[in-house]
Amino acid sequence: MKELLADKYIRLKNELDDYKMAIAEQMYPGCKGLVGKTIYECRSRKQYPTDEFYEWKIDECYGITTKDSKRHEVAKLMGGYSFPAGGKVTKKLISECEEYVRKYKELPIDTFDVFFSIVRYDEKWKSSSGLRYSPETGFERNFGLDKSDFDEKIKADKEEYERTYKPREGYVKCERCGKQVPENEVVKYKLIYQAWDYQRGRYVTSRIGAFCSGECAMNEQMSLEG
Ligand SMILES: [Zn+2]
Repeated sequence: MKELLADKYIRLKNELDDYKMAIAEQMYPGCKGLVGKTIYECRSRKQYPTDEFYEWKIDECYGITTKDSKRHEVAKLMGGYSFPAGGKVTKKLISECEEYVRKYKELPIDTFDVFFSIVRYDEKWKSSSGLRYSPETGFERNFGLDKSDFDEKIKADKEEYERTYKPREGYVKCERCGKQVPENEVVKYKLIYQAWDYQRGRYVTSRIGAFCSGECAMNEQMSLEG
């Protein structure tokens, strides 16, 4: 009898996994074919323009319902059900799982994003991460299937670097945003923050920071207050 319940639990879990994969395929036709393929992370930023990429391998893809804009809607439609993660397989647990899978399948497609789990191997270790794909905006962050997708971004970063961030004579770097500011336009601001050492423990101290604007100075002060 126990055996049968355990089998049922596994069947429901597989049914849910299959459904999540079917949803992904519906939202991003062909996404299953990307499993095992390389996806590139462009490392360029306007402060640090570079042609370097990280290469990640796509491990898995499935539908996921954690879209920020739909969180409330999903919670309401699911009515508080969640898939019990393990524990003793009882009749009650099975019926909760059945209810969960049934409700999950009723969720509207626009509450889903496609989620890719990705891995990257360094010399010594393996990093795992997740990557979201939305049909409206594509891959999140600086990810793409083709390096050439980033040609324009890298070019723009390099131009912006030359224009704004490259160290130059007679200029000072803004401590907040990294922009170069002419020495005579620097905004000096007294930052007040907490420090710690063995003798005094926690104490309040200050130092003068150099910024491009009052806005950067205030943002820096606020981040110090955390
Ligand atoms: Zn600044």
